[in-house]
Amino acid sequence: MKILFAASEAYPLVKTGGLGDVIHALPRALHQQGMDVRVILPAYRLILEQISNLRIAGWLQVQGAGRLHQIRILETIDHHLGVPLLLVDAPDLFDRPGSPYLHPDGYNWHDNAERFSVFSRAVAQLASTANMLDWKPDVVHAHDWQTGLLPAFLKLVPDAPAIIYTIHNLSYSGIFSHEEFIRLQLPGEWWSADALEFFGNFSMLKGGIIFSDKITTVSPSYAQEIQTPGFGYGFDGVLRTNHHKLRGILNGIDQEIWNPATDPYLPDHYSLKHRYLAGKRANKQALLEQLGVKLQDDQLNTPLLGFIGRLVEQKGVDLLLQIIPNILDNHDARLVVLGSGEKHFENALRELAALYPQRLLLTLGYSEELAHRIEAGADLFLMPSRFEPCGLNQMYSLRYGTPPLVHQVGGLADTVVDATPENLKNNTATGFIFHEPSAGSMLHAVERALSVYEKPASWHKLMRTAMAQDFGWTQSASEYIQLYEEISC
Ligand code: ADP
Repeated sequence: MKILFAASEAYPLVKTGGLGDVIHALPRALHQQGMDVRVILPAYRLILEQISNLRIAGWLQVQGAGRLHQIRILETIDHHLGVPLLLVDAPDLFDRPGSPYLHPDGYNWHDNAERFSVFSRAVAQLASTANMLDWKPDVVHAHDWQTGLLPAFLKLVPDAPAIIYTIHNLSYSGIFSHEEFIRLQLPGEWWSADALEFFGNFSMLKGGIIFSDKITTVSPSYAQEIQTPGFGYGFDGVLRTNHHKLRGILNGIDQEIWNPATDPYLPDHYSLKHRYLAGKRANKQALLEQLGVKLQDDQLNTPLLGFIGRLVEQKGVDLLLQIIPNILDNHDARLVVLGSGEKHFENALRELAALYPQRLLLTLGYSEELAHRIEAGADLFLMPSRFEPCGLNQMYSLRYGTPPLVHQVGGLADTVVDATPENLKNNTATGFIFHEPSAGSMLHAVERALSVYEKPASWHKLMRTAMAQDFGWTQSASEYIQLYEEISC
């Protein structure tokens, strides 16, 4: 079966979050199960700078905001992605500095609606015929708001492939004005509550919900949650109406990249079968030294907590900020934090780090290397997200023997088993869960975790159960294949 993945990012070429990881790993996993998969991305400057072996597959003329764009479709076999890569090359729109969505000064590109509608229109044209590539997909798999118009555009062409749409995070829904709708020359009948219109504006993501054959999201719990007002961001109604199309399929993780036995970023290697205690200890020591803390061997037993993530409200940073003084005042513990995001969170963390030198070890910024080292070197990983479609870091933590402490939402609820006395006894516990998005509830779970940490036998059992979990892509890829088969026959 031929599958075309259309998305706005793919690791390692361009990544701003979990979406990039998925567009790297899922196509490979599908390929391994016999699917003929290609990925199509916008030809950002960042990507063109990294790839040399490009071929022009052809040209398209695509409607933009009041103007036509002459677009090149570029083709490559990019060994980084492991499957063939196609690029929509519209230099006016994508040959720019900065991230895929943001100007280097940090604000959204003013023409994001045009950029991603042109991308979606181009992919729809390309996917509806075998003329250019001598290859026509049976299924187009679109992702997130940036490709939300793609299912809609595909409905306009005869003989279109089947289309599946994955929501990675409902809180980013591509909302633009009526004026933009007119400028993009979208069909007038789409300005309706049954199509793109969304409370006086229009939403590209809503196009994905309405016009696709199947909708998936990235964990079973999140698939349920987004049908409720508390998590639905205004889309809960339309998702309830379309619930017959909606499925939650848990993301996997790339177990080659995130493997403590081979991870090139780690100073020491370990696995469940080999030196997991010694290996973790060596990584902890190296991590602390890297962050300027030198401890005697006997001091290394004091717990090291970790946090990695975007510093935004979604990730529960406010909860973390509230409990840091409690943890550090009442326990001989340290906390290492890596992240970047909203300035007020960055400033608040900076102030706390100044109050707790050598205890709160803060790195503001983005570092793959440090992220890997924290996963390996920390004892307990904190993930207090207010909502979490799937979440990757808790699965990396499990694999690295660093029990995660999570809020019971979305993918966190689906991947972590709470260390209740009963679960600890029957060897099913893998981490710690708190139920209310409040500082008190989180702090209570941290206290619980630290008391288990004081009992090495229990803690080691928890680590071993965590490390034995399998969150590879094989199972999820099979579930996607089943869906592709359902819609393409
Ligand atoms: P989201 O996609 O909502 O940001 P996920 O947990 O699904 O959250 O994925 C986040 C990914 O980005 C993980 O691979 C995580 O390690 C990585 N990440 C987030 N912030 C940073 C950072 N500051 N430095 C390095 N990696 C980061």
